[in-house]
Amino acid sequence: MGSGYVIGTQKIVDNGAASERFNLVLVAEGFQAGEISDFSNQVQQFVNFLFTTPPFDSLSSAFNVYRVDVASTESGADDPTACGGTGATVDTYFDASFCNGNIRRLLLVDSAKVIDTVDVEVPEWHQILVVVNSTIWGGAGGSIGTTSISPGWENIAIHEMGHAAFGLADEYQYWAGCGIDTDRDHYTGGEPAAPNVTINTDRSTIKWGDLILATTSLPTTSNPTCAECDTQPSPVPAGTVGAFEGAYYHHCGVYRPQYNCMMRNLQPFCAVCRARIEETMTPFLPTFTLPWKDLVLWTWFIIVGGLLISPEGVFCIVCGQPIDAVGYIGNVMVGVFGVGSIVLGLLGLAQSLSKTFKV
Ligand SMILES: [Zn+2]
Repeated sequence: MGSGYVIGTQKIVDNGAASERFNLVLVAEGFQAGEISDFSNQVQQFVNFLFTTPPFDSLSSAFNVYRVDVASTESGADDPTACGGTGATVDTYFDASFCNGNIRRLLLVDSAKVIDTVDVEVPEWHQILVVVNSTIWGGAGGSIGTTSISPGWENIAIHEMGHAAFGLADEYQYWAGCGIDTDRDHYTGGEPAAPNVTINTDRSTIKWGDLILATTSLPTTSNPTCAECDTQPSPVPAGTVGAFEGAYYHHCGVYRPQYNCMMRNLQPFCAVCRARIEETMTPFLPTFTLPWKDLVLWTWFIIVGGLLISPEGVFCIVCGQPIDAVGYIGNVMVGVFGVGSIVLGLLGLAQSLSKTFKV
């Protein structure tokens, strides 16, 4: 199953060699050959959205983005009736289907086939996002993220990248849904490995303790009814870092860092998630770009200054004869200009280099 063909690859954001940047690859699934321009438009929309979403707005130079155009024989994705879907079964290149693990929103593809394809197209890939041509809400994380193109899909895609590229956990407090789950009252597992959920509310040892103000109470919220999702409003101003009960698919016993987050309800990333993303992306940022024009300018000042104060003087191009230098006929003005030029050149050079190397 799964027919169609790979059309080709476009590098749509180019910040340098693939060996030096974080290479994000968006792959078409469920688009027929005649629909690839739709895919291209969706991808461009996503890139614009990603690079205006903090913290990615200040990390864009760390990314290369590639678009792998793949034509499927038919359009869309399977949508089994078992999850209340339409029962559609379509022949798409990577066999996308909703309703995995009996959860309709869980949208999966033939991951091995995706990896085989991208290994050929962009061997240096770091993150693959398969964009599925369906307007039904859904997606999945893992080493390969998937997303449909339902309204607001850009947020889902960034959320799924949060899992796959940055090891962030889901901060929402349900599995199948609030009011549907019966086995999500209390989290009983150990401390989760992800940086953005915890069972620990001890101020001195909690994972994100450095971001919690002494005036913020811990836990910051407790769910009064563990048999249900906690619906209380935030008792603290937006953006406050603390420990909010209800996270990681459970109503009680596990905490998230802020009331809202991209990993909870597609709101802006919380401070803990932002910090993890920045830490992961920093090695991919261009380390420095030498300001050649500045360096040449300041060096020129130093050379001219040096010539002005040299005993032989400097040849005057306009007047056609050497201008005498300080020490030779005691021309104080030439000396002052010479020394001033050298000092200015050295200061300018130092400032350019300090900006470049972020001293
Ligand atoms: Zn978060």
